[in-house]
Amino acid sequence: MFVDSAKIHIKAGDGGDGAVSFHREKYVAAGGPDGGDGGHGGNILFRADSNLSTLADFRYKRKYAAAAGERGGAGRCTGKSAPDLVISVPIGTLVKDAETGRVIADISDSQPVVVARGGNGGWGNQHFATPTRQVPRFAKKGNPGEELDIQLELKLLADVGLIGFPNVGKSTLVSVVSEAKPKIANYHFTTLTPVLGVVRMGEGSSFVMADIPGLIEGAGEGVGLGHEFLRHVERCRLLLHVLDISGSEGRDPIEDFETINRELAVFSDELPLRPQIVVGNKCDLADEEQVERLRRYFEERGYRFFPIMAAIAEGTDALIDCVAAELAKLPPIKRYEAEPKPPEDFTDPKKRTFNIRVCDGVYFVEDCPWIMDIMNTVDPEDYESLQYFERVLRTTGIIDALIKAGVSEGDTVSVYDVEFDFVL
Ligand code: GDP
Ligand code: MG
Repeated sequence: MFVDSAKIHIKAGDGGDGAVSFHREKYVAAGGPDGGDGGHGGNILFRADSNLSTLADFRYKRKYAAAAGERGGAGRCTGKSAPDLVISVPIGTLVKDAETGRVIADISDSQPVVVARGGNGGWGNQHFATPTRQVPRFAKKGNPGEELDIQLELKLLADVGLIGFPNVGKSTLVSVVSEAKPKIANYHFTTLTPVLGVVRMGEGSSFVMADIPGLIEGAGEGVGLGHEFLRHVERCRLLLHVLDISGSEGRDPIEDFETINRELAVFSDELPLRPQIVVGNKCDLADEEQVERLRRYFEERGYRFFPIMAAIAEGTDALIDCVAAELAKLPPIKRYEAEPKPPEDFTDPKKRTFNIRVCDGVYFVEDCPWIMDIMNTVDPEDYESLQYFERVLRTTGIIDALIKAGVSEGDTVSVYDVEFDFVL
């Protein structure tokens, strides 16, 4: 079965905790702190694999987690960092935030992309000795790894997309101009999965053509087959609109053409703007007059019109030459840009959870992974940025909780990687 979308959950590895340890040696009393740092948690990356053509694997396995970094050890021993987890997907897969629909990455070349970052390891107590605190009995926890639900969506990479009603001869056309052999038969919906064919033009030049299942009325709104396949022509630079000009199934080819174009408009704002070439197939069943009537109709509206007989490859050379010439003038296949992450909504009560732990006079704010994103944007050198951070601490109740826990002016507060002196 062809699967071209999937929802999965990913969790990058947490950083390992820092260690609390003191140097021990025979005859040496009270050695200094030597607890090592935790290791880095594994990242989660996505990589395109040209051997994959569907997202079927993700129907069965929906949870992916990278390993956590190891804890730090005694003797300043840093914990081992966890390996990255690399998830392979077909070329042309879009990775979106399932909650917001934000595009995180377009996996359409060989470059792997980090989608969830592992947490940094926490510092061991070796870092916390000061003249007034010579025996630090605490270390830092590792930072949490990023965790989110993502939507995977395959959008094929093809230069040319074939659109049209079922049974008009789209698959036949692909089979005579490329090496692809899609199923061809005289009934509707023989093509149930998109097929890519490479059309070779000689002298090393070629382009990719996508045969997608036929569209029917209502496809744009998801009625019948078709809607889910329209996404596969979204990246195409040029559309070939294939018509059965003999009207062999009792429909009028011009009505077919207008119907399909309406469907494209329902599906997206961009698709109707994509250049189209009109292909009048099954010429053998139409008379000269009909062919000329259609030619006039389409040429008056600014379209190129090619009458062909796909079944015997008649007229297809001229069509392919025209396609190649048009492609040379068009921009490259569409790539989706990653969209920036919107600012974290720290006013959402469900996200305000945290814990406060006091150890050796240091106030640790913990178990609040939501604050990581905010802290990543805070610039400690910038006054306004720090004010924003303070507002977050206040609004979310962290300041109140610190006061309740007994913090006083000048005490050290530690939030993951950041430490600051408490000022009222
Ligand atoms: P698709 O559903 O648009 O992919 O259509 P197919 O390529 O599966 O073809 C549907 C039917 O039309 C098949 O029986 C083909 O043999 C037939 N067909 C394709 N091209 C021609 C043609 O040029 N003339 C005639 N008479 N029949 C054709
Ligand atoms: Mg077909």
